[in-house]
Formats: sequence, structure tokens, C-alpha cells
Amino acid sequence: MGANTRVSKADYYEVLGVSREASDQELKSAYRKQALKYHPDRNPGDHAAEEKFKTASEAYQVLSDADKRAVYDRYGHAGLGGQGSGFGSGPFTGSVDIGDIFGDLFGEMFSVGGTQRGSRQRRGDDLRFDLTIDFEDAFFGIETEVKIRRLETCATCNGRGSASGRGPNACGQCQGRGQIRYQQGFFSVARTCGACGGSGQVIGDPCHACRGETRITNELKLTVKVPPGVEEGTRIRYAGEGDAGRSGAPRGDLYVVLGIRPHDFFERNGYDLHCVIPISFPQAALGAEFEIPGIDGPVNLKIPEGTQSGRELRVRGRGIPYLNEKGHGDLIVKVLVQIPRKLSRPQRELVNKLAESLTVDNKPASPGLLDKMKDLFN
Ligand SMILES: [Zn+2]
Ligand SMILES: [Zn+2]
Repeated sequence: MGANTRVSKADYYEVLGVSREASDQELKSAYRKQALKYHPDRNPGDHAAEEKFKTASEAYQVLSDADKRAVYDRYGHAGLGGQGSGFGSGPFTGSVDIGDIFGDLFGEMFSVGGTQRGSRQRRGDDLRFDLTIDFEDAFFGIETEVKIRRLETCATCNGRGSASGRGPNACGQCQGRGQIRYQQGFFSVARTCGACGGSGQVIGDPCHACRGETRITNELKLTVKVPPGVEEGTRIRYAGEGDAGRSGAPRGDLYVVLGIRPHDFFERNGYDLHCVIPISFPQAALGAEFEIPGIDGPVNLKIPEGTQSGRELRVRGRGIPYLNEKGHGDLIVKVLVQIPRKLSRPQRELVNKLAESLTVDNKPASPGLLDKMKDLFN
């Protein structure tokens, strides 16, 4: 590639979208953004993205080097002579590992497609098991046995994967690296090795039980202890009970995630239990005392004289047990005063008499709304 082909080269500062006064830190973060966006691992087969990635990398290579940047600032691309373009000539041809520029940060960001260093020793996956229990079970707690399918280290080969017990050999395609590197401009780009799936190892004589996978699916019978007071979505963690890792690597964790079936009568709000009960007009007017069924036994309910419909009565300590603590929330009973739909003749006379006898002293405890309406129409 000769110097003449660089006539139309884009300005390095423009490529990275920074000012000519940009600090090293600004350059680095600008390049990181572009590289993340256009990296070939993230844009497989996209040649436009690849070009942008190369250009940005080239710009960063020059501008991040104080000497080269000074030359470029004074003389532009021409000043760099054969160096600027770098592809195939000049001192820039040495391959530069992107990981070397960005260190671990970059490596982690590309763990999706490309670099999976150390994946051989990675512990197994975490597992999630959804367990739906009754409302009462969440109140009292419950012990229940569940069956969970998970990966276990193959017992036949002890997780080695090979029938002879010799274990795997280094992959011939990638020489055990798990990646195939190839030159792209003055970068070497890594791809996951297809022959070994990135593990860097192949098994010549696979174990018959696990077919060389080193793990087999098995059913775990687990007694789940649900403590009292759990709510929808509560997670119970069983450390080290998830999938086994490959080649005998440790297990991940198991999470039992609780769902709770609704109750016909009660609803939960925090640690309070809510319910609605109908009462009669005489009970509301005269007051009453009676039992209602609670989840943990009968609840004695006291309706004060002159109770309005919709009033909420609080029964202390009869709500949901606190999770992993002593004590309970409250039970909140909303009373709805029922008006008879039909009255017999004698009842009608009684209500009429009551109506005639009502005076201003019998007005409801909070007549604010009625007063406001009167004000409105006067
Ligand atoms: Zn390989
Ligand atoms: Zn096996």
C-alpha cells in the first residue's frame, strides 16, 4: 500500500470524535466506545463495521503514542510516512492484541462471543426452581420435597470425560488455546475454535456414560424448608446445589423462587392481612362482638357502636408472621354495612319510626361531606 492511497484518509481526531486537545483518557474512552460498537466479534460478517473498527484502532494507535501524535499533529498522515496506514508495511505491522490495550475490562466485555479465558474451570450454572405454595403455607411455613433436574459430574469418568481416564488432550486445531487467531491489518483477531468449542481440549476416547461431556443430567430430590412469612417472589438460596461445572468444576447455586396462590378471603399487604366482612345496620349502629375465622384460628372482632360502612378495624398481631423474626403484622378488617334489599311491612314501619325519630344529634360521626354539599347549594 503506497503513500498515495492515503490521500482521502479521515482525520484521526474526527475518526474518534474528539478534539485536537483531547487528553489520553478522553482518547482512550472514545476509542473504547467505538471499538465496543464495531468490534468484529460483535458484528460478524459486517465489513463496514470491520472497516470502522480498523480505522478507529489505527487512529488510537497513533494518537495514544505521544511521539507519533506530535508528528501527526504537525504533518498529518503524510508525516507518518509509511507508518500511518500500517497495513502491511512500516513499524506498525506488529500485531497488537486488543486485550493488551484495555486489559481485563475489555476481555470481560467480549466474553459473549470471543475470549472465554479460563472457562474450563468455571463453576456450574445457577439454577432456578419455581415453587408455588398455598397462602396458608406461606403463613405457617412448610417443608416440601421437590425434584430438580440438574447436571452432575459424571461418576463413571469422574468428570474427566474420557473412557480410559486419561482425560482430554490439547485441541490440535488451536493448540489448546481455545481460540484461532488471524491477522487483520495490524491486529490479530481471535475467534472461538470450532473444533473444541473454545475449551482448548478434545477427548479422543469419550466416556460412554456422558459421551465425553463430563456431566450427566440427574434428578435431585430436595426438601425445601419454607419459613413462615414468605411472600411472592421470595428466593431461598441453596449454595452449591446448582449444576456441576464442566470437568469436575464446582457447582453453581440453586434458587427456589416462591409463588403464592391467592386466598379466597384474605389478602396480604406487607405483613398485614386484609379482609372485608359484611355487617348489618343494627350491628353497625348498636355495636357488636363476634368471631370471624382467621388463618391461625378464630379472631374476636369488636364492632364499636356507630361504626360507618367502610371503616377498617385493626386487630393487632393477627397478621402475617415476620420472616425470620418474632411477631406478626396486623389483621385489618374492613366492615361493609349491608342495607336490606327488601323489608316486610312491620320492618318498614319500624324503619319509618326510626327515620322520624332521627334528629341532628344522630348525624354520622364525620358529616364533612354532607356539610360541603349543603354549602355548595346554598
Ligand atoms: Zn480448539
Ligand atoms: Zn463420563
